[in-house]
Formats: sequence, structure tokens, C-alpha cells
Amino acid sequence: MPSAENILLATFRCSRHGMILVRLDQRLVQVNSKFCGLLGYQENELLERPLAEFTYPEDAILAQKLFDNVANGRMKRFEIVLRLVNERGENLLSHLTAHSVLDASGKPGLCAIAVEDITEKDKAEDKLRIAAKIYESSEEGVVVTDREGIIQFVNPAFTMITGYSPEEALGKNPNILKSGRHTQEFYELMWGSLNTEGKWEGEIWNRSKNGEAYLERLRITSIRDAAGRTTHYTAIFSDLTQIRDTEEKIRYQAYHDILTGLPNRSLYFDRVRQAITRAQRGGKKLGVMFLDLDDFKKINDRLSHSAGDLMLQGVATRLVGCLRDTDTVARIGGDEFTILLEDVDGEKQSSVVAGKIMRSISEPYFYNSEELFVSASLGIAIYPADGASVEDLTKNADIAMYHAKDLGKNNFQFFTESMNQKVVKRLEVETNLRKALDKDEMFACYQPKVDLKTGRIVGMEALIRWRRDGLDIVLPNEFIPLAEETGLILGLDEWMLGKACAFNRRIHDGGDEEFSVAVNVAVNVSAKAFESPDLVKSIQDVVALSGLSPRYIELEVTESSIIRNMDQAVTVLCRLREIGFNISMDDFGTGYSSLSYLAKLPINILKIDRSFIVDLVSNPKSRSIAKAIVSMSHEMDIKVVAEGVEKAEQLEYLRGIGCDEVQGYLFCRPLLENDMEDLIKSRVQYQSH
Ligand code: C2E
Ligand code: MG
Ligand code: MG
Repeated sequence: MPSAENILLATFRCSRHGMILVRLDQRLVQVNSKFCGLLGYQENELLERPLAEFTYPEDAILAQKLFDNVANGRMKRFEIVLRLVNERGENLLSHLTAHSVLDASGKPGLCAIAVEDITEKDKAEDKLRIAAKIYESSEEGVVVTDREGIIQFVNPAFTMITGYSPEEALGKNPNILKSGRHTQEFYELMWGSLNTEGKWEGEIWNRSKNGEAYLERLRITSIRDAAGRTTHYTAIFSDLTQIRDTEEKIRYQAYHDILTGLPNRSLYFDRVRQAITRAQRGGKKLGVMFLDLDDFKKINDRLSHSAGDLMLQGVATRLVGCLRDTDTVARIGGDEFTILLEDVDGEKQSSVVAGKIMRSISEPYFYNSEELFVSASLGIAIYPADGASVEDLTKNADIAMYHAKDLGKNNFQFFTESMNQKVVKRLEVETNLRKALDKDEMFACYQPKVDLKTGRIVGMEALIRWRRDGLDIVLPNEFIPLAEETGLILGLDEWMLGKACAFNRRIHDGGDEEFSVAVNVAVNVSAKAFESPDLVKSIQDVVALSGLSPRYIELEVTESSIIRNMDQAVTVLCRLREIGFNISMDDFGTGYSSLSYLAKLPINILKIDRSFIVDLVSNPKSRSIAKAIVSMSHEMDIKVVAEGVEKAEQLEYLRGIGCDEVQGYLFCRPLLENDMEDLIKSRVQYQSH
């Protein structure tokens, strides 16, 4: 049986830790080889030298206090972390565990100390602490496992992505996340790389707690100690499924129309550009179509926007159904669609497709069990004949579409050069029209309105004329529609109102009581004006400037402009009536011609349209309708004016049914201001014809 001393000595020598025996003045009595290795000195270089010599100075002072405590018996054991300095001058963070050893007299004489180098361990723990802090707030999932792969740490993002709480994950193996989508070989390669290079990076399918597989970008690093042994693994991963989803979504939204899912303008333009390149190489043709729904705004206004949306979706589906996979249909505006036909032989094939589209679109749509109908106007341009760029082709298809609208909608047209010229001309007219007022090219004509009972002039309608750049006089029908489209009409109407009021004021001022003072002036108000929020004020301002009382002014509005903005129009017209203006319903008989809604409108004059008057002589039905209009209007206290009276027969009939006033070539054409003034002052009195 070996002696206790020998056993202790052997333990001392082979301990994994550094072992030393020191006197209480810190001189080294015994050192084992591990300790020598730590400091890099030979045994004989160490013995009999104080430990303080191998200790960082500040730490040595601290240590000495502890040794003193042992010496005076206040302490039997102590632990301290201090910095030893090795042979190369490097600091070794060391954990010392000291026990006092009593001598024969029972007094403390020596300390046996185990010395553990914790430099690396401390570094690793520090790293983990800092890392843990960073990982707390990271959007990437983080798992730290020990060498055996047992999960030691997970961060909140890990829980977010995998669905496993820290309690559920800690102590488990990360293979709880295995999706089963990878082969054994995949994992072998992963481990191979981890073992040889200390890291692995790649994409991997894992499975979250709720069973959903997700793709993640994963980076695993092994943490090693100084001896190169793996102590931990950290895995950092981000959920690619989500990133891909959002990236995909953003890309999708950038190139698609959200409502219909069709490509949008930019994707469409891209596709046409590519198609042009292909067609150019192969000497092929392309068809480019521009489609616009007819009166879509009415559907939207009459029903609701959701009905409109549904219809647009329906149209999109039908368009796709009419085309081959290689063709593209895009929505590029509210109710505007463009279509690219690849590899067509030209007009023949394009017109077959266009016909198919027209038929398909005109099938009924269902909304809340109501059947809705819509038609479309479509223009076609062919590459290369009608343009070599996507811009030109689309513009020309658009021009052709407008031509289809002009021809009464619900049809398709191929682009022709003459259409282009028309557009160019239109542009020219628009440019000139913009300058017309400044250049003083507009002037007013007045057409008398005659009282049927007395034969006297009781009013006049102001009609605008344009003497364009020294050319012939342009009549309103040629420029009013364009002026309305461009909004220029607002300026023209305001000018006309001012002019007409000033003129009438002059007549009233200079004329005699009996004839001139009773003359009203009628001015046309465009539909566009009802879109402006301060129509009432702008009319009032202009009229105030002339000093003419509103009761001598008739504002002629058309049915269509009222219908278009019914609620607002009624409010505005009521206000104008309150102020004292007369409101006249112009062109009655051309639009809805509904007598029932007349009662709802604050109008006091109704003008039967010329087209109706023309019909009077030949059509008995028209005669009965005219009769009904007059008697009903009178019931409602509305004065009736017949316009466009050219024939004596018409006049006679109108007189017979009690029409109040007439206006037409039979009496007088529109006259220049001076001629009109002379006519009124001549006290003309028309007799029966
Ligand atoms: P409207 O308000 O219905 O005006 C009557 C139109 O019928 C005038 O044409 C007038 O010259 C024409 N006319 C009158 N009697 C006869 C007739 O016996 N036979 C025929 N065939 N025609 C007759 P005009 O001056 O060419 O005006 C056309 C339209 O242009 C007007 O129709 C009106 O809607 C619009 N307009 C004219 N001046 C203005 C204006 O200053 N502002 C706005 N917004 N519109 C205007
Ligand atoms: Mg009128
Ligand atoms: Mg009229």
C-alpha cells in the first residue's frame, strides 16, 4: 500500500490543472509540470521564487492580502481570479483555488493551490454574453448548441420563425426542425464542412412547430477552444420563404395591375419592346390594340365602384380568354386595356381577334343578380406599317380607338394615316383655340326669340363665333366639343356671359320702356361648368360687373350636363334661381326627355330641340308629343320655347298648341351685335306667317 504522501504527490503531478505549493510569503515550494507548461518555465526556474513575480502587479497585491489572511488563520481556503504572466510576457487569466496546509505544530505554513487557465474559456463566455445580447434583438434566428448538439440558447427570432419557445427548444437537438426534405447525403456534407472548415452555409428546408416547411438561409459556425476542440455550435438563419414572398410580391406589384392581375403599362411596354425585336429579326408582324370601354363612367356612377371593379375584372378575364398564351393583355388605365398580338399575318388575323373580343365583351355581366351590359371601342395598329416603336404603335392604336368612338362606339378600327392627320389637325386647332381669346378672335352673335302672341322680340340667345386667324368663321359645333374636352370652354363661356350681359345692359339703358327693357339675353352654360365647385360665384361675379339684373338673364343648360352631375346640378341651379336667374332646359327631346324629372329641377324655361321641330310636320307622333310637352310644362309653370323653327307650318302648329316663344331662321338668323341692336330698336313686330 503506497503512502498517502506518495498518492498525493502522484495526484499532484498528473493533475489536469496547474498545481503549486507555496509558502505564505508566496515562494513556490513545489510545482507540477502542467503549471510549468502554463508559464513556460522549467521547474528549477520557478522554485523558491515568489508567485508575485509571475503575477500581474495589481493582482499580486490583492493575492498577498489573501495569503496574509491565511497566515493569521482568518481563512483556510480562498479562490481568486488573477492574471499570471508567462515566459513570453502574455497574461493568462487564471482561476486559483487555494487551501492552507497545516504544519506539525498545527499552524498554517503552506498553501496548496490549483491553477486553472481560464483565458480561452473566459473569452468564449464573454463572446457568448455579447452575442446573446446582440442576438436578442436580431431578426435572424439564432441557436447555440453545445458540442453534442444540445440546444443551449435560442433567441426570440428563433421562436418567431420556428414556433418553438425557448422552454420547448432548450435541451433538445435541432433535428426537431428537420423537414425531411433533404437526403442523408445533404446532412453528411454539412457535417463534413463543419468538421473540416468549422462552418457551413447554405439554404435548407426546415419545418416549424405547426408542421409548415420553410426555406431558410443557414450559417453554422463551430466555436472552438484554444486547442481546436469544438465547444459549441452557433446557427444563424433567416426565413427565406417570407423574404422571397415579399420580394416576389413587390416585383409582382411593380408590373401588374392589382385589380385585374393583368400586366400593367410598364410590363406591357417591355413585352412589346421585346416582341418588336423578335419580329424585326424574323420579319414578322405584330398587332397592337387599344381598347376603351364605352360609357364606363356611367356604369360606375349609376351603380357603384364595386360594380365597376367587378366589370373590369370580368372584362379582363374575357380578354384573356380571347387570346393565345403568347399574346399579352394589359390594363393601362381606368377602363383602358392594351393587347399585343404576336406573330400575326396583319389585318386579317387581327380583325378576327378584334371581332371575338367585341362579341365576348358584349355578353352580359351579372351584378347582384342584375344583368349589366357594356361595349368597347377598339383601335388596332400593325407593326411595322403603323410604327416601329412601342410608343408610336400604342399612340396610333389609341388614335384608331378614338376614331371608333367617333363612329358611334362598339366597333373596331385599324389605324390609317388620315386619322393621324385628323389628330394633327385637332392638335393644331387646340393650340389656336388656346390663343383665340387673347388674340380677340371670338365674337358674339345674337338670335332673337319671338313671343308667339305679340310677335315681339322678347329675348335673344348669345351664340359664340370664332374668326380664326383671318380664315372663315368657325361655328361652335366645330370647336365647342374640343373646348369642352380641354376645359377651355370655361374661359369661353365666361367671356360670352360678360359680353352678353354688357350688351343687354346697353340695350336696356338706351332703349325705350315698351320694347327694349323687356328683352332677356340667353347664354349657354357648358356641362363642364358643373364640375367646377364655384360656378355660382363666378357667374355672379361676371354678371355683377355688367350691372344687369339676373332676371334678364337665361342660363341655358342641357339635359345631359344635369344628368351627369344630378345632385350637384340641382343644388347649383336652385341657388341660381334664388338669386334671380332664369334657367332654361336646352335641346329638350334629344336626351332622356323625361318629363317626370322636369318637376324636380328648378327650371322655368324649356327649349324643344330643333330635331323635334323638323319632325313636327311629317310625324303625327311628334306632334302629339310636342303637344304633351307644352301642356305639361304649363302645368308646371314652365315657359316653352321652340328652337330651329324654319317653316310656317311648324310655327302654325306651335301656335296652335300654345307654345310661348319661337327662335329660328323663319324669323331671323343669328346677327352681329350692332345688327341685333338695330333690329330691337326698330320695334319690329312679327306677324303671323
Ligand atoms: P343651341 O344652344 O341649341 O343653339 C341653337 C343653335 O341652332 C345655334 O347654332 C343656332 O344658330 C342654330 N339655329 C337657330 N335657328 C335655326 C334654324 O332655324 N335652323 C337651323 N338649322 N339652325 C338654327 P350655333 O350657333 O351653331 O350653336 C350650336 C350650339 O353650340 C348651340 O346650340 C350651343 O349648344 C353651342 N354654343 C353656342 N354658343 C355657345 C357658347 O357661348 N357657350 C357654349 N357652352 N355653347 C355654345
Ligand atoms: Mg342654347
Ligand atoms: Mg338648343
